[in-house]
Amino acid sequence: MKLYNTLTRKKDDFSQPKDREVGIYTCGPTVYNYAHIGNMRAYIFADILVRYLRYSGYSVKHVMNITDVGHLTSDSDTGEDKVEKEAKLERKTAWEIAEKYTNAFFEDSKALNIKKPDVVVKATDLIKDQIDFIKGLEEKGFTYALEDGVYFDTSKLKDYGKLARLDIEGLRAGERVDIKEKKNKTDFALWKLSPKDKKRDMEWESPWGKGFPGWHLECSAIGLKYLGEQFDIHTGGIDHVNVHHTNEIAQGEALTGKIPAKIWMHSEFLLVGDTRMGKSEGNLVRVTDLGVDPLAYRMLVLQAHYRDPLNFTDESIKAADTALKNLRNDIKELKSLSSESGSDNTNKSFIDAMNDDLNTSQALASIYSFIKDAKKKKTGEIVKFILEVDKAVLGLDLDKEDIIPENVKKLVENRENAREDKNWVESDKIRSEIEKLGYTVEDTQSGPTIKKI
Ligand code: AMP
Ligand code: ZN
Repeated sequence: MKLYNTLTRKKDDFSQPKDREVGIYTCGPTVYNYAHIGNMRAYIFADILVRYLRYSGYSVKHVMNITDVGHLTSDSDTGEDKVEKEAKLERKTAWEIAEKYTNAFFEDSKALNIKKPDVVVKATDLIKDQIDFIKGLEEKGFTYALEDGVYFDTSKLKDYGKLARLDIEGLRAGERVDIKEKKNKTDFALWKLSPKDKKRDMEWESPWGKGFPGWHLECSAIGLKYLGEQFDIHTGGIDHVNVHHTNEIAQGEALTGKIPAKIWMHSEFLLVGDTRMGKSEGNLVRVTDLGVDPLAYRMLVLQAHYRDPLNFTDESIKAADTALKNLRNDIKELKSLSSESGSDNTNKSFIDAMNDDLNTSQALASIYSFIKDAKKKKTGEIVKFILEVDKAVLGLDLDKEDIIPENVKKLVENRENAREDKNWVESDKIRSEIEKLGYTVEDTQSGPTIKKI
């Protein structure tokens, strides 16, 4: 199996012995608002990775954080804490805000068939470990104090920025650093002191004064505690490469001498037109706003490769919804066919696609071709395999049959009676009534079948 590693900029071989647990860490949501479907793309991607590794016979330990403190409005360690800011707006405490949006995140995840990671840890659950982490960095000489907190000195690492291939020389040549400011432009906060004039809801005592941890630290501390000094795979959205993951690597290497993960995987953005979906862009859509089965969005995401940007439009989500319905109808049809007539279908093309850096769009194409073949040969044999990979990996609920409303069933019955009486005018009239309700009837030898349009 090959997985694209941002660190090496190539598809690396993933060939662990199957008896060894695979450790995966996913950067979780910042719970200051509802997650939008762009955010959810990153979690669908991580879910597919974990599910596919399990399907391939690995045992996986999947760990994710919940950022409930320390994520500031600016990536350069200035601005307000996002959760505290929202708390003021909603007239709630930061704790209440974090709880509200954490619950909403897991509801949305459930609607998208995203399995809950084995370990979910809030940043605020692990403050002591984060303080100990900073102490360790301090002992090794990687920190310095400023008026507003403790910072990591990125110039102390010989190859800071290697994940993003940052042009450090270029960055440093152009910088002017005020004496009261950070020593290097790329330095980042490990511990921020609470502002003197404001009372925060979330703050803790520390050897450096009352305050809260920097955003990057939680992932380093949680990864270290639950997965060890170096685990297998780290996932996140593409925007994490330049700052967040670069700094996670810096902290981890400085403390343990090891890069925290071997493979770093990043999913691309969901776009609306030319811009990413994002809060500051004002183009958010939440799972509950979709107006279609949320799994149609999962389908849309799987139709693209995770490393390609994906455009979200009314048309694209509608088309994905139709594609999902059609696929479910195909499965229903195949299930009614005999599975004894033998088929030379093999599932190899599906596995090959997934083994090639989780190429879900190719994997779906292989399912379409299985179905086409099966229909031609009138055999339902492949349906078992499709439903197995759907349950284990794709998570599209392909076995789900639309529940036909009672009034539609009644109309179909009336139409059958009209047909028996050879009252074609009446039967056509009822058919169009059924269609107005969003269903169609097909007359087969074994009686009428009802499908959603
Ligand atoms: P946040 O809640 O801001 O910490 O982000 C949660 C996840 O969503 C991160 O992995 C981001 O990289 C990812 N993300 C944010 N915006 C988008 C987007 N428009 N498309 C895809 N992923 C995104
Ligand atoms: Zn993280």
